[in-house]
Amino acid sequence: MDFFTKRKRSEVMSRIRGKGNRTTELAFLRLLKNAHVSGWKRHVKKISTTPDFIFTKRKVAVFLDGCFWHGCRICGNGRIPKTNRGFWLRKIRRNQSRDRRNTETLKKAGWVVLRFWEHSLEKRSDWMILKLQKILGS
Ligand SMILES: [Zn+2]
Repeated sequence: MDFFTKRKRSEVMSRIRGKGNRTTELAFLRLLKNAHVSGWKRHVKKISTTPDFIFTKRKVAVFLDGCFWHGCRICGNGRIPKTNRGFWLRKIRRNQSRDRRNTETLKKAGWVVLRFWEHSLEKRSDWMILKLQKILGS
């Protein structure tokens, strides 16, 4: 039935969109607050890019990469819709090369760049906070 396929398709799309950047950022924000980490700002443009969080004093930029949009090899690929697969793959590849460029540009300007996968927030948030605290404390 067409109804079923339509519903199925919108399910796929909402699964992708539902795991959007906002959800990830809010989860990270909760993590920072729970661990009493301060000194951060959100969405401040630095050079050519806008990190999700920055710690100005230590020049640390944090990016939270959504597994789908940034092409996580652990869980991202499995979620690419079969329809228009080429389109999604091209889009994701463009995002990945932009990510690499932005990381390099920031590093050259003296920033420490931390990129966390969305799945780390779900499964390894303790490790994320430890890693961040280590860098901020050093
Ligand atoms: Zn992932």
